[in-house]
Amino acid sequence: MDEVPRQVLVVFAGLFGLLVGSFLNVCIFRLPRRCMSIAGGRSKCPRCRRTIAWYDNIPVLSWIALGGKCRGCRAAISPRYALIELATGGLFAYAAAVQLYRPALEEPVQRATLFAIQCYLVGAIVASTFIDIDFEILPDEINLTGIPLGLLAGAAFPEVLFGEMPLLGWLERVPEGVRPHLYGAAQSVAGAMIGGGLLWAVSILGTAVFRKRVRELKMDSAMGFGDVKYLAFLGAFLGWQGILLAFLVSVLSGALYGLGKFAFTRSFGKVPFGPFLSVGALSVMFARPLIVRGVEAYLELFRPAA
Ligand SMILES: [Zn+2]
Repeated sequence: MDEVPRQVLVVFAGLFGLLVGSFLNVCIFRLPRRCMSIAGGRSKCPRCRRTIAWYDNIPVLSWIALGGKCRGCRAAISPRYALIELATGGLFAYAAAVQLYRPALEEPVQRATLFAIQCYLVGAIVASTFIDIDFEILPDEINLTGIPLGLLAGAAFPEVLFGEMPLLGWLERVPEGVRPHLYGAAQSVAGAMIGGGLLWAVSILGTAVFRKRVRELKMDSAMGFGDVKYLAFLGAFLGWQGILLAFLVSVLSGALYGLGKFAFTRSFGKVPFGPFLSVGALSVMFARPLIVRGVEAYLELFRPAA
């Protein structure tokens, strides 16, 4: 990997991310609508059913060239498609530019594994986030494949996920005398159980406390079971410390959003929590030292002056 100039790697990662983002747009549209034959069937304009030609389906560029309108019926195409492509491209490029060059990983094959895991997680998180925003579901297709994949990855690549490593291992170090694969598997299992268990507890508690509100909004519980599975999936990859940090960030960002919304609309309404869990997970993946420093600075406030 060191033979390839860094800029080339970053550009290719970004372009790859744009394509993946385009594919994620298809998933976000089709998965919750149960017409998920991703491979078969070309994309059509939802209004005039015109099949979208390949040259009208180039990430970002086609949207700009068409002025955000369908070539057939001139129906507006949401800028969100292009933004999802850009965000995915940006995150892939960042993963290649910064994450891969953090010093901890020496073996090129480990770096490649790390990059692949980051790309997979970014894809799953982006798709889940927008499906949750549109439909208030976090699809089992992503969560229930993600949990076993996370457990497998934890056991197979403990150094990449939970060693003193760039992606998720900022705090952890495989303790001496412990078999790395066993340690990785234990980290994944603990991450999934703590992630899922935490939200399950929040759901039971929240439903009890806000019983009236939950009934008013015609919900079964304060927190959907999809959120529980989603955080179990993320926990399997982030490990138990990682998922706690991710949960902390998601609660803080969710509270900020809620207060902002209340300031403008005077109502909290119903907010899907999935997007905030995603913000938490991405923050831990890409900015873990920053969060840790923030937590340390906060704890410092309570230390009695010597
Ligand atoms: Zn059309």
